[in-house]
Amino acid sequence: MGTKLIDKIYIDGAFVTPHGTELFDLYNPATGQVIGQVQLADEVDTQAAVTAAKAALPAWSRTTREERIDALRRLRDAVAARREALLQAVRLEYGAPVRNEWMVDSAIGAFEGMIKTLETFAFTRQAGNAVVEMVPVGVAGLITPWNSDMFFIADKMATALAGGNTVVMKPSEMSATQTWVMTEALHEAGLPAGVFNIVTGRGDVVGTTITRHPDVPKISFTGSTSVGKAIFRDSADLMKSLTLELGGKSPSIILDDADMNTAMFGALSSGFVNSSQACVAGTRILVPESRYDEALKAAVEQMSRFPVGDPADPATVIGPMVSQKQWERVQGYILRGIEEGARLLAGGPGKPEDLPNGYFVRPTLFADVTNDMAIAREEIFGPVLSILTYTDEDHAIEIANDTDYGLHGYVFSADQERALRIASRIEAGRVSINGGYEPLSPFGGFKQSGIGREYGSYGLEEFLQTRSLMV
Ligand code: NAD
Repeated sequence: MGTKLIDKIYIDGAFVTPHGTELFDLYNPATGQVIGQVQLADEVDTQAAVTAAKAALPAWSRTTREERIDALRRLRDAVAARREALLQAVRLEYGAPVRNEWMVDSAIGAFEGMIKTLETFAFTRQAGNAVVEMVPVGVAGLITPWNSDMFFIADKMATALAGGNTVVMKPSEMSATQTWVMTEALHEAGLPAGVFNIVTGRGDVVGTTITRHPDVPKISFTGSTSVGKAIFRDSADLMKSLTLELGGKSPSIILDDADMNTAMFGALSSGFVNSSQACVAGTRILVPESRYDEALKAAVEQMSRFPVGDPADPATVIGPMVSQKQWERVQGYILRGIEEGARLLAGGPGKPEDLPNGYFVRPTLFADVTNDMAIAREEIFGPVLSILTYTDEDHAIEIANDTDYGLHGYVFSADQERALRIASRIEAGRVSINGGYEPLSPFGGFKQSGIGREYGSYGLEEFLQTRSLMV
C-alpha cells in the first residue's frame, strides 16, 4: 500500500477536502513504521456533515421498508466487493492476524442482520386502543473506536439507516485507512447524498461537536467508559437519546464438572479474542479451588495454541497492540500484577524475543489473582489474563459480579442446565455458554458497561421513538 495521505472526508455524497488541516500519522503496529497520514476534519467539517444529514432526513425518514432493505443490500454488496482490500487494511493498520477474517465478514454480516431484522420488524403496534408508531429519532451521531473499525461503522450505520435516520459518522482517527476503504465501498452503493456522512477527526474536536450539536438528537457511541461518561454529561442539556457501548472485565466461569482442557481452551480463546483488544474479552478466569492445579497445568499447556507473531503469518493468533501508547499501558498492568503479588504463569514484561519491532506483548497469564487486584478490576485491553479460584457456585457468582462492569460473561460446564442456571445469575448483558453465539441477540452492558442495546430488533428500537395515536 505504501505511505499514503488520506486527505478526503465524505460529506453530502462527495469526497471533499477537509477544512481541518491537522495531519495525523498512521502506523503499522507490526513494525512501528509510519504507513500514512490522515488530514483530520474539524468543527467546520462536522457542521457541514450535520447540515447535509439534516437536509437528507425528510426524504430518508419517509422511505419504505422495501426501499431501506434495498439500500442495505446495496451497502452489503459494496462492502463484500471490497473484502480483500478491507482485509489488507485491517492487517496493515491494526495488525489483525490474517486468520481473523471475521473482522471484515462481521461488517458484511451487520448489514445482513439488519436486512433480516427489517423484514419482520413491526413499525406500527397496538397498545390498548392506541396505535403506536415507531418513528425515526433524526440525525444520528455515530462515534466508534479503533479495535473493530469496519464492524462498528457497518453495524451502527445499518441500524440507524434501517430506522429512517440519517447519519454523521465519526470513526477513530487511528483507523483512518480502514475507514477510507470502507467509505469508498459505501459510496458505491449509491445512496442519496447526505444520508450518511463520514468525518474522521479527533474526539475532542469532531466528537464533541457532534455530541453537543442541537441538530443531532441521537448518539450511539462505542468506546471507553470514561469517554462514555463525558458524552453522557455533554448530552444532558439537550436530552439526547443515548446508546453507550463501553468497557468490560468479563468473567469466564469454569464449573467443576467441565472437561478442563476443553473449558480452558474456550476461556483462553474468549480472553485472547482480537488480540485481547476486545470489550467482550473474558479476562478473569474463575476455576474451582478443588481443581486449581489441574486448571493451571491445562492453562500453561493450552498457551501454545495462542502464538503471538506477525499478523501476515497464518499461524498467528495474537497480533500486536494498536499503538505504542497501548503497548505501554499493557506493560504497566503486567508490572502492576507482579507488584500486587500475582504469580506469572506465562509471558511477562517486555517484547517477545523474536519480535523486537512493533507493539508486540508477551501473552501473559497470572495465577493466584484475587479480585481486589488492579489486574482483576481494570480493563487492560491487552493479552493479560487472570486466573482466580472460587469455593462453590455462590462464591463464583459473587466474584463474577464483583465488578463495575457487566458487558459479558462465559460459562463452561458439562451440564447445560446447570450452566444456564449459573449464567442467569451473572450481571451482564450477554452470557455465552460453552462458546455459544448468536449475532442477532441484543448486545450491551449492565452497570458501567453502558446504556442501551445493539443488534437485531433491540438495536433497531434504540434508533426509533414511539408516537401513540389515541382516538
Ligand atoms: P475511546 O473512548 O478513547 O474513543 C472512542 C471514540 O470516541 C473515538 O472515535 C474517539 O475519537 C472518540 N472520542 C474521544 N473523546 C471523545 C469525546 N470527549 N467526545 C466524543 N467523542 C470522543 O476508546 P478507544 O481507545 O478508541 O477504544 C477502546 C475502548 O473502547 C475500550 O475501553 C473498549 O472497552 C471500548 N469498546 C467497547 C465496546 C463495546 O461494544 N462495549 C466495543 C469495543 C471497544
